[in-house]
Amino acid sequence: MLAGWARLVRRECRNPVCALANYTYGVGPDVLWRHENLDDETHGWVERQFGWVPLSFFRQMAQCVRAGHLVCVDDAPELPDDLIAQPPRTRARWTLMAGSRNTCFLPIGQRRTFAWLDAQDPGLHRHHELPGYSHLDLFFGREAARDVFPLILAALERGERPPARRRGRRFEPGTGRAATAEEELPAAPADTVAT
Ligand SMILES: [Zn+2]
Repeated sequence: MLAGWARLVRRECRNPVCALANYTYGVGPDVLWRHENLDDETHGWVERQFGWVPLSFFRQMAQCVRAGHLVCVDDAPELPDDLIAQPPRTRARWTLMAGSRNTCFLPIGQRRTFAWLDAQDPGLHRHHELPGYSHLDLFFGREAARDVFPLILAALERGERPPARRRGRRFEPGTGRAATAEEELPAAPADTVAT
């Protein structure tokens, strides 16, 4: 029934899987990718790339939206109660990439995440906002190899890993400021790219 409803609402696309996927993950057209960024073969290929998604994902996203940041919803003793109340337990360098037209996860979320990461280790992380892209078209858009992949390669080839942090920084939620705190963390295990 949901699939039928999605096809009724998302009339701009006649691919039923594409219509349902875009309907499921946001409001309006082109939530997961901008159709104009895909060639016909890729648009047909996505039809075979989607399966079931647990509803617990959406419950967690709803809690994150209400909290204004990522929250844990399962009992995971290895994770802190509040993910942003202390610095990350790693010095992995993060490279964040967001499409400027992403309506699944709004670009402002990555800007805020980058500000938080940069407050912990100024200059360590990178953030790229790519004009004209949405969400997954960053990876399989027609021009992704030209516009996006070089940024990923550059992130992975940045050279020496950063040393252990001796004076960490703790972000104070709601203040936009970082407060220093004595701490020593291991060197980064790897560079990380996220969208
Ligand atoms: Zn489509």
